[in-house]
Amino acid sequence: MNKIAQIFESLDYGPAPEGPQPALDWLDSHGKTFGHYIDGQWTKPGKTFSSDNPATGASLAQITDGTAEDVDAAVKAARAAFPLWSALSGYERGKYLYAIARLIQKHARLFAVLESLDNGKPIRESRDVDIPLVARHFYHHAGWAQHLSRAFPDHVPYGVCGQIIPWNFPLLMLAWKIAPALAAGNTVILKPAEFTSLTALLFAEICDRAGLPKGVVNIVTGEGGTGQAITGHPGIDKIAFTGSTEVGKAIRAATAGTGKGLSLELGGKSPYIVFEDADIDSAIEGLVDAIWFNQGQVCCAGSRLLVQESIEERFITKLKLRMSTLRVGDPLDKSVDIGALVAQVQVTRVKDMLKAGAKEGAVIYEPDMDLPAKGCFLKPALVTNVSPANTLVTEEIFGPVLVAMSFRTPEEAVQLANNTKYGLAATIWSENINLALDIAPKIKAGVVWINGTNQFDAAVGFGGYKESGYGREGGKEGLAAYLKPAWEKDLKPAPAAKIAPAKAANPLDNGHVDQTAKMYIGGKQARPDSGYSRPVHSATGALIGEVGDGNRKDIRNAVEAARAALGWSTTAAHSRAQILYFLAENLDYRREEFAARIKAQTGEDGAAEVALSVERLFAFAGWADKYDGAVHNPPQRTVAIAMVEPIGVIGIVAPPSRPLLGSIALIAPALAMGNPVVLVPSDRSPLSVTDLYQVIETSDVPHGVINIVTGDSITLAKTLAEHDGVDGLWFAGSAEASAMVERASISNLKQTWTSRGLYYDLADRRFEGDYFLSKATQVKNVWVPYGA
Ligand code: NAD
Repeated sequence: MNKIAQIFESLDYGPAPEGPQPALDWLDSHGKTFGHYIDGQWTKPGKTFSSDNPATGASLAQITDGTAEDVDAAVKAARAAFPLWSALSGYERGKYLYAIARLIQKHARLFAVLESLDNGKPIRESRDVDIPLVARHFYHHAGWAQHLSRAFPDHVPYGVCGQIIPWNFPLLMLAWKIAPALAAGNTVILKPAEFTSLTALLFAEICDRAGLPKGVVNIVTGEGGTGQAITGHPGIDKIAFTGSTEVGKAIRAATAGTGKGLSLELGGKSPYIVFEDADIDSAIEGLVDAIWFNQGQVCCAGSRLLVQESIEERFITKLKLRMSTLRVGDPLDKSVDIGALVAQVQVTRVKDMLKAGAKEGAVIYEPDMDLPAKGCFLKPALVTNVSPANTLVTEEIFGPVLVAMSFRTPEEAVQLANNTKYGLAATIWSENINLALDIAPKIKAGVVWINGTNQFDAAVGFGGYKESGYGREGGKEGLAAYLKPAWEKDLKPAPAAKIAPAKAANPLDNGHVDQTAKMYIGGKQARPDSGYSRPVHSATGALIGEVGDGNRKDIRNAVEAARAALGWSTTAAHSRAQILYFLAENLDYRREEFAARIKAQTGEDGAAEVALSVERLFAFAGWADKYDGAVHNPPQRTVAIAMVEPIGVIGIVAPPSRPLLGSIALIAPALAMGNPVVLVPSDRSPLSVTDLYQVIETSDVPHGVINIVTGDSITLAKTLAEHDGVDGLWFAGSAEASAMVERASISNLKQTWTSRGLYYDLADRRFEGDYFLSKATQVKNVWVPYGA
């Protein structure tokens, strides 16, 4: 039989290799040794390490391990380039981004081949997914550059951005970082991952060819130490990081108190939920993409299959059959499904995790297939017989391993899906659109795909909830992460409080009955756990009352009450607005009493502060049903519904000044957007807030939505920061205490806002809108198939 006849007989794939030569020639043109790309020039190579082809083990090139001096030189270049670059018109910056997009398209095949050689991903993916998405990102942001001032009035770029990326989508992650940063007028220093620097270095050449002014983009290669030099450099204004949650936490700690902007795109353990009425064959094809795309080394990989019990057996049987037809092999072969993992350490890590999972009782299925004799290859694996606590269920594996569990009811599916510290993505398969759209908002994740998976687009934000990080990449919210309000640079240090020495020691001295305010937890007044109270003095030092001295236990109770009130987030926006209006109405009704209380505590005329507080409640009542999402139209046949969702439980530590407005201005936006709060009022003048209990009770506020703990602000802020039941924390106080709050918040990566010792005049109407609303919310994009 001739060969063609044989192929017809066996229906086997023949080899279809893509030629590596153009990429190897490009490496040769650099003598296979690279320095950094700083200030528009190549530096002399320093101490180098090898970048290897994981499919063969062959060394592709020598890469320089960047030193602190290299990073410093890059920061100087980026700083010098910033004034000119940020002053260019949006149209001018847009033209550069457009030129980069065009050049990437013109060199698309070279990029794809180089990416597959360096990373081990199948050429089908680098050619058809990664590189087209890279070009799309630069096109999209060329447009944003031009429309920036219309979309973000009164905003300015951060300045110099340090960007650190992982190895799983080397060029795509670069594009997600560099395109929005440049569009917004920032200059950048980007560090690719040590395993995969080559396409970033080729990109540097593209910047040259596009005529990008020198210093606007600097590429510094290196390992973790180079990354640390970037995050620790005082000349960098913002850090954008994509990588593991572990390193993300280290970066949060390293940048605490520095005032640097920070966005974190971290790990995931995303659920892939299949209901009994799903189109099973499509769901299986989707699953192949969800977990075996890029060998499972995908932050949003659908690595936890949750399948409804009634179809479990049929589904798993079909899945095993499909797994046996997957082709593992040479990444440059166009008909290979699974290429090489990035490096031997990753292979070892995945194998070790499988062993640990098996020890805990997991059953591991791998199809019977041959792997190439050498290289970082692994068979696709399916793990069954696991409990929710099995290591393979809880930990990110970052390899071709799918873990399967079953569920009976939609409620159970949601519980299992959310039973993770991560919250990056989720997939839902069901032919019942009502069911799918009922489940999507219940899942705590930044991206939800319905009857599809792994869809990405520059116009649609991508990013996580919980320990998957904060900030978004792509979409308008991704661009916002590279901008800050223009007025922030004019903030002055908060003036030191003038505290008169305490005079009266006896509460009866002021001629009233002894007054000791309790706390307010879960809709009830509560005595402090400590059994201690603390005095409140007037501006002249006279004792005017006492409040409970809250401690760790009171905070715990308040957080528990707030978590029990999370239903507030799904209360209709109109109802939340109504309740905020009621609060305003009832406060206004008692304005004289509240004004007198402010006067007693601060000596200042309280009438204006009460009036402003009422107005602020009105403002956010008005926002409750207006600060909402968008519908994006990505190129795929889908719409992406960008839902604005609350953060969760927000801890709020009010500033010492403005005893009433200081608390109202912060809780109103949080409440309007559906976040229950634990409020620590001004520790110097807490009585304006403890007086609010009756206002709250007469305004239909559900129990647990507003909880108030009085006491020492810094001690209580620390407890809130360390509490994993708190999802966000806003702290107004000194620079030192702000740094402490940011550092103490790393355990569950809560989103923080701190005043860093600066004076935020909360009476200013600039705080009536977007500023706190954006901090009270996160965007979830729900992708829904749509149209023809
Ligand atoms: P990693 O965290 O080990 O490394 C990421 C980058 O950080 C690398 O460039 C590395 O050199 C650098 N780095 C390491 N230690 C550092 C330190 N102390 N300070 C500063 N920089 C440091 O992650 P990885 O193994 O390269 O990538 C895999 C991880 O990335 C997975 O957890 C994956 O989920 C995550 N990821 C997330 C997204 C997302 O968008 N959320 C996208 C891709 C990958």
